[in-house]
Amino acid sequence: MYQPKPNPRKEYRQQESQRVQDSATLAEAFQGLKTLTVDLSYFSPESLKRNSEIKYTVNLAYAKARFRFNCPNDQCVAGDFDLSQVLAKLVAARQAVVSGEMLCQGWRCHSGIGQMPCHHRLRYKLTAEYERPLAHAQPDYAGANHGNED
Ligand SMILES: [Zn+2]
Repeated sequence: MYQPKPNPRKEYRQQESQRVQDSATLAEAFQGLKTLTVDLSYFSPESLKRNSEIKYTVNLAYAKARFRFNCPNDQCVAGDFDLSQVLAKLVAARQAVVSGEMLCQGWRCHSGIGQMPCHHRLRYKLTAEYERPLAHAQPDYAGANHGNED
């Protein structure tokens, strides 16, 4: 498989989705995490109005620890929103809720590379529940690996 023409946007997305594939699931990475709900609102740079909002409960057995969301800008190059660190901190601290805002660091379109930042915004809220109190919070892989390699 090769691209007849260079396509930075597509290549970046492919690379990133490979990294996501390669990362552990949330259930593996964050033992003790019982439920996780995400509430995401997207804003375009020109407007203060919300473009779209999604709220759902994450499937911990399938979602990956490289926890990222595509930028809503169809033309965006090398951007997107990565909440991996936010989530890791939340779980490490056994906090119930974290919220904040993130600016897309990609480029607005192919012809804007190096010149026009994408700057779509994501406003997020993550809500977590945990299996048990802090006492047993150490990572422990016993019994977690079910031999599920391809
Ligand atoms: Zn973007």
